[in-house]
Amino acid sequence: MKPDAAPYRPYHPAGTVYGCLLNHAPALAALGEAVHQPPYKAPPRAPVLYVKPRNTWAADGQPVAVPADAPALQVGAALGLVIGRTACRVNVHDALAHVAGAVIVNDLSVPHDSFYRPNVRLKARDGLCPLGRTLVPLAELPAAVDALAVRVFVDGVLVHHTTTGDRLRGAAQLLADVSEFMTLQPGDVLMLGVAHGAPMASAGQTVAIEIDGLGRLSTPLVAEGAAPSPVMRVATMPTQRSARVAFDGAVHSAMPHATGLQLADGRVLREDQVVWLPPFEVGTIIALGLNYADHVKELAKELTVSTQDEPLVFLKGPGSLIGHRGHTRRPAGVAFMHYECELAVVIGRTARGVLAADAMDFVAGYTVCNDYAVRDYLENWYRPNLRVKNRDGGTALGPWFVPAAEVPDPQALGLRTLVNGQVTQQGSTAHMINGVAVLIEYLSSFMTLQAGDVILTGTPDGVVNVEAGDAVACEIDGIGRLVNTLAPDSAFGR
Ligand code: CA
Repeated sequence: MKPDAAPYRPYHPAGTVYGCLLNHAPALAALGEAVHQPPYKAPPRAPVLYVKPRNTWAADGQPVAVPADAPALQVGAALGLVIGRTACRVNVHDALAHVAGAVIVNDLSVPHDSFYRPNVRLKARDGLCPLGRTLVPLAELPAAVDALAVRVFVDGVLVHHTTTGDRLRGAAQLLADVSEFMTLQPGDVLMLGVAHGAPMASAGQTVAIEIDGLGRLSTPLVAEGAAPSPVMRVATMPTQRSARVAFDGAVHSAMPHATGLQLADGRVLREDQVVWLPPFEVGTIIALGLNYADHVKELAKELTVSTQDEPLVFLKGPGSLIGHRGHTRRPAGVAFMHYECELAVVIGRTARGVLAADAMDFVAGYTVCNDYAVRDYLENWYRPNLRVKNRDGGTALGPWFVPAAEVPDPQALGLRTLVNGQVTQQGSTAHMINGVAVLIEYLSSFMTLQAGDVILTGTPDGVVNVEAGDAVACEIDGIGRLVNTLAPDSAFGR
């Protein structure tokens, strides 16, 4: 069928949008010997992924702001695979059967030379991910998904002509490799990656991307302040200490009770009678690396990080989340998997350009997070990478959402982790390098935060390896005690 005869549907991302860096063979080759030199030391092994969060999404034709401090934006013409069927550890041979279709994505970024620890400020600013209108099934494309012509125009002039081919991992291989550690859900978008030589465009210019069979995506670039605010669904945050649990075939809101918990309908239950879910409707998941001085010293003796440095921020997808009393998979054969007890800060209302002095007004509440990492998978590309930090069920949240009014000073909370009842990690939120208010000022300076967005504020020192079967309890004074158990591969079907 000719693509222009296809029954095009308006396309809006229903899930999470993942970008992929350095997947074009000439782009990696262009780095030359640098891939073997510090800080990278070796070519990437796993796909180099990042999240384009909901504040970055823009519609076809929607103006996008070029930041005042950047002369231009890099235009990342990418094909996005839209998942149609849950993809968990899929085989390369049937990977594409999990794809509903393809869309054009403009993976805009502030240009940057280093792929070591680039900040989300470069890729997650408002509007930096325009998405095409039309989702086209792969079978209706004029050629294979890895062999489509891609053209970029700036003000109508063709400036870049490539294809979707020549990838280190083609579409099927990429989906297979990514789904090995993170399950993709229907509505998620996985980009094939941008070709070498991505062109630049400035405010006042209009960028258009064409991919054969997918039509055209047009984006006028404007000066900072002249673009519309991102449209995001507004979640309603709880106003009292509460949990979300599944019980007896339904999802319930629950309150603490002397003997466990009490459902809204009055039933009193024990902790072990329910399935605990993350305690609020989670939006963008923002995580801080190296935000406690003692943890920095513990992990990387050659590094020094201080309040003078830009915070190290990365984003996670919702598939990483798991509730209280959940089981997190520990892959066989890894040498070092560790927990990270963290104060999770939940945003309560739209925040853009907020000053630290006002920032606490935008906090709805708090919960406890256990942000697992598998250190064996650390690489020096977009560190920390998603294979380390975005594994299925690797980010536990709960048990309770605690309203901000119950926490007079979030920078004076003791936190600790117990493994099988033994204290292995102790610290205080007083020792964060960047406190909650500063983090909100920083993040909201380049991205619009929305109710439900959560900031995982980092962990103090005291992380040790944990094994399958270990029970890990993360406690924060006044917030809660979050329990998780490590499970071996054999507890899972694939
Ligand atoms: Ca962490």
